[in-house]
Amino acid sequence: MTDLYRVLPEEVDELVTNMGQPRYRADQLLHMLYHEFPKDMSDMRQIPSEMRKVLSSAGYTIGSANEIHRVVSEDRQTTKLLLKLGDGTLIETVLMQYRKGNSHPRSTICVSTQVGCQMGCTFCATGQMGFERNLKAEEIVAQVLHFASVLQEREEHVTNIVFMGMGEPLANYAETIRAVRLLTHARAFGLGQRHITISTVGVMKGIDSLADEDLQIGLAISLHAPNDELRRKLVPTAGPNSVKDLISATRSYFKKTGRRVTLEYALIDGINDSPEIAAELGMLLKGNGAHVNLIPVNPTAGGFKRPRWKRITEFERVLRESGVNCTVRVEKGSEISAACGQLRTDMTKNF
Ligand code: SAH
Ligand code: SF4
Repeated sequence: MTDLYRVLPEEVDELVTNMGQPRYRADQLLHMLYHEFPKDMSDMRQIPSEMRKVLSSAGYTIGSANEIHRVVSEDRQTTKLLLKLGDGTLIETVLMQYRKGNSHPRSTICVSTQVGCQMGCTFCATGQMGFERNLKAEEIVAQVLHFASVLQEREEHVTNIVFMGMGEPLANYAETIRAVRLLTHARAFGLGQRHITISTVGVMKGIDSLADEDLQIGLAISLHAPNDELRRKLVPTAGPNSVKDLISATRSYFKKTGRRVTLEYALIDGINDSPEIAAELGMLLKGNGAHVNLIPVNPTAGGFKRPRWKRITEFERVLRESGVNCTVRVEKGSEISAACGQLRTDMTKNF
């Protein structure tokens, strides 16, 4: 069985030619898949039934991701879905919207790339649930298309995609890259590459390969600490030189792609939020050109807490004064468990 949502446009061309069909059928098929969101083969009425039959008998299918739970934040800007995949697996996908005046909102989809995660970050709900399996490219694409069809009904559309849901995208490299190619290919979903960001906790091999992909996507690295001793407490799977390695990875990624890397830093009360640590981080990053996103942590079962606001702004000030660009990103939708892995954790408790 092959899901049509994992087949790249060039492969669709080949498939259609091999079936003895004219080339425009490939465009028609791709258009249906990425703009009309069929739920199964029988929904694709523009495709002759003969061709649909041949596709089915050759083992092509359209997989589904069924919405089984939806939570919307009070301000209506964040929507979190629990989706059920073909094999019953539950995954999370989040939509974050930013409205400015009457213009179309920015609509960012946060996708999952794995069910659970092997990296075991202590403050992360996904890290604490262990690892189940990698997601296939079509299962990553399905998350975006599910929201795209919801938005289409409101005459809105997906403007950005961030790989910041459950799992470590670079530990599922090939399927993640296939999904990126499908989502950005002009004949498939067609989102601009610059509107996609992959976030990684630091899979070095993956970062190197990504720099060589000839993709203009953004990269975010989750640093969380200015030294290895502290970082290992938060990211137990990090290597002994992870901080140094990650800083040099940001430089080489920039050199190769011309794109600056964002560093993410989850601020946790009493753990990595002191002014001294801010100064150490400032020393480490000074002159590097990096941009730091400070994310006050979303409380999870591990007992980690968000620092008080004064402490957050103090951290920001010290970092800025050392010459490092930074912004505080208050996680949207924290009251609906919008941090990665939280909804699935909350929901599975009730099943
Ligand atoms: N595995 C990748 C991408 C998914 S996690 C990574 O770690 O980068 C996406 C982001 O959410 C990471 O920056 C991660 O540190 C952050 N995150 C995880 N749990 C969080 C929590 N409880 N509160 C705030 N941010 C969290
Ligand atoms: Fe995995 Fe990212 Fe969570 Fe760490 S923060 S456990 S790498 S999903």
